[in-house]
Amino acid sequence: MTATTLERPARSAADLIAREAHYGARNYKPLDVVLTRGEGVYVWDVDGKRYLDCLSAYSAVNQGHCHPRIVAAMTEQASRLTLTSRAFRNDQLPAFYEELCELTNSHMALPMNSGAEAVESALKTVRKWGYEIKGVPEGQAEIIVCSENFHGRTLAIVGFSSDEQTRGGFGPFAPGFRMIPFGDAAALEAAITPNTVGFLVEPIQGEAGVMIPPAGYFTRVRELCTQHNVVLILDEIQTGLGRTGKLLAEQHEGIEADLTLVGKALSGGFYPVSAVLSNSEVLGVLKPGDHGSTFGGNPLACAVARMALKVLVEEGMIENAERAGARLKGSLASIRHPAIKEVRGRGLMLAVELHPEAGGARPVCEDLMARGFLCKDTHDHTVRISPPLVLTADQADGISEAFEAALRR
Ligand SMILES: *Cc1c(COP(=O)(O)O)cnc(C)c1O
Repeated sequence: MTATTLERPARSAADLIAREAHYGARNYKPLDVVLTRGEGVYVWDVDGKRYLDCLSAYSAVNQGHCHPRIVAAMTEQASRLTLTSRAFRNDQLPAFYEELCELTNSHMALPMNSGAEAVESALKTVRKWGYEIKGVPEGQAEIIVCSENFHGRTLAIVGFSSDEQTRGGFGPFAPGFRMIPFGDAAALEAAITPNTVGFLVEPIQGEAGVMIPPAGYFTRVRELCTQHNVVLILDEIQTGLGRTGKLLAEQHEGIEADLTLVGKALSGGFYPVSAVLSNSEVLGVLKPGDHGSTFGGNPLACAVARMALKVLVEEGMIENAERAGARLKGSLASIRHPAIKEVRGRGLMLAVELHPEAGGARPVCEDLMARGFLCKDTHDHTVRISPPLVLTADQADGISEAFEAALRR
């Protein structure tokens, strides 16, 4: 290093960005803000500037950044016991199972780490269920998925993505998946065959730009899956745990999935914790040795997740998501500006879609960043707004005021 390099403050934003670009794989293009601290809905950058986080790490920090009760549970457990592997039992896992199943009205749970692992686990389990219980001939199981889906980044999952960048260059892919349009129950009915074992779907497609299916869609999906003995797998990794103003988004539709996938906010953003929840006997097909994970169900993850669920419920965050979300959606929808095409969403899972000629969502996000609000653009013309569920009414109003000001520029 030259003398001038050494004289630069070691942690300047420009320096950190340069090091990241030099040493890191370039699979992301983040906004150029380098964060160092978070508390509640706020995060601070290395220069001490405060921002309101309108992304919540894709709904992983529903409980707000660094929630003190989760910090306490995590540090207490971290100094006691972190990992035993499932070769031995630990005293946190049974309580985690019990609390998670009682809260979500599930019979059984399978603990994993990332969301993608929960999805993979569900796919493996429904195939096995198909062969052992439904009687599908070996090797013939079919799983139906939706176009514009997002279920994670593993090989099996990207193989059934409809997004060219997600799939491109990563083949060959696993067979046994069939794709239908999202929100089209007739297409599901037409795609089901005697070998169909599962239908994997998001209640609201988040990464696709917060796409809400037509009213009655999930009622019909539930009927079709029951009628044809197909396991309904709802990926609630983003919609679940309060984000849409209900514990699970399926509750808006008055249905129950057979398998429900949760992750992200299951740990309040502290640690990767995910789970497959089973409302029928599907998880029962797994026998010792069929599936596993070194870190899945570890005592640290369980202690963190137990507290993350507890604060979500005890501190009224789910109700607040509904209340603050309605207020924010209402004030965004009342902005009179020709760039706005649509404001949509449920609870605090919101998006503003701009007209294509408005110049794109990224410049709006950059303007919002300068004003102290961190939002994420998606699919060129849509800005997603999903702040932590502890958002106050004043903070909600602040977001829509900043959004309007950013559009007027
Ligand atoms: C984020 C997400 C996943 C993948 O979770 P990872 O923890 O990133 O593997 C899967 N499904 C949905 C709907 C998601 O939003």
